[in-house]
Amino acid sequence: MKILVINCGSSSLKYQLIDMEDKKVLAKGLAERIGIEGGRVKYEAAGKDEIVIEEMLADHKAALKIVLDSLQHAEYGAVKSLDEIDAVGHRVVHGGEAFAESVIIDDEVMKAINDNVEIAPLHNPPNIIGIEACKEIMGDIPMVAVFDTAFHQTIPALNYIYALPYEYYEKYKVRRYGFHGTSHQYITGRAAEMLGKDLDDVNLITCHLGNGSSISAVVGGKCYDTTMGFTPLEGLAMGTRTGDMDPAIVPFIMDKENLSTEEMSNVMNKKSGVLGISGVSSDFRDLEEAAEKGNERAQLALDIFENRVRKFIGAYLTEMDHCDGIIFTAGVGENSISTRERVIDGLASLGIKIDRDKNDMRGKEAVISADDSSIPVLVIPTNEELKIAMETAKLV
Ligand code: ADP
Repeated sequence: MKILVINCGSSSLKYQLIDMEDKKVLAKGLAERIGIEGGRVKYEAAGKDEIVIEEMLADHKAALKIVLDSLQHAEYGAVKSLDEIDAVGHRVVHGGEAFAESVIIDDEVMKAINDNVEIAPLHNPPNIIGIEACKEIMGDIPMVAVFDTAFHQTIPALNYIYALPYEYYEKYKVRRYGFHGTSHQYITGRAAEMLGKDLDDVNLITCHLGNGSSISAVVGGKCYDTTMGFTPLEGLAMGTRTGDMDPAIVPFIMDKENLSTEEMSNVMNKKSGVLGISGVSSDFRDLEEAAEKGNERAQLALDIFENRVRKFIGAYLTEMDHCDGIIFTAGVGENSISTRERVIDGLASLGIKIDRDKNDMRGKEAVISADDSSIPVLVIPTNEELKIAMETAKLV
């Protein structure tokens, strides 16, 4: 079975064609700058050179058309015809309370995804456009929606209700939803396998640390708590997002700087986090380099980021009777040796210890804790595309 995985952003379309027999990626790539000058589609079939097609991409449909043409290209294609593709799996950011699992897309599902635009105005519209473009070009091929929020729907009310008037939950569905669910769920499954535990029996703290970051408390294989909230802005300090702060700061700054709600939202989403603190970059490699050269604010940004990761690990340990593993994943979690080391070194009072030699690697599945660590610490590279393909294959 061959599954096409599609992940649409507002001006981008990421894709992978995966053969489920051996979980091999047959082709992958990215269309970017959709709807603006300088559009291009990157395409790479397994074992072949990357191709870049530079062309104005009027909309997502135009981008998808080039992707599908490339996939069946006589010279560099990955399939002879589109008939070989059995189904399409779409990443959808917000499933709201309607979806605790992936679903086959039909009219009712589309309506529910559309209903969630109100609570996810930045995220769901591009996902909807991607689904519609696929439907137009690929006809009635089975399509599945895999939601970033679904894994978190098991979180109990004590962790999803905010201390606001309860009617805001009832009227506007203001509650914690959590994001990166596909990643947290994928590494939960892998961690259970690596630790030799039944999925229903495993308690974990999963740390997805990338440009956007979140940590989840997983109890009995199910999500019990997570750091992102109503939107992906809550929790850890991120590349450009604030994470937690006193909500009273929002009206105060809006007043002082004369900002509209949209402008303030832009500050909190795009100009804050480690970029805002350091003034250097949102990229952790740049920050590590600047800090090494003595840039104090870059060092402060890293310190703040790592300290919050530690604080949430500490907090989440109180939400489970024991913990079978602390897992690092995503760009920073998989690759930053120094971040992992400093986070774990700060947990010494809990008996959690890193093995410096084992930690000296990037981007591989490994146990990196010392043999006498009270809790095993693992690195598991995430694979959201594979998880989306697995969910799609399961449903169709
Ligand atoms: P996204 O949230 O966009 O999916 P990723 O999970 O790809 O993000 O993570 C991107 C982040 O990972 C960037 O800040 C990048 O600096 C960081 N990163 C990648 N490689 C390294 C590395 N070798 N050392 C430190 N940070 C790294």
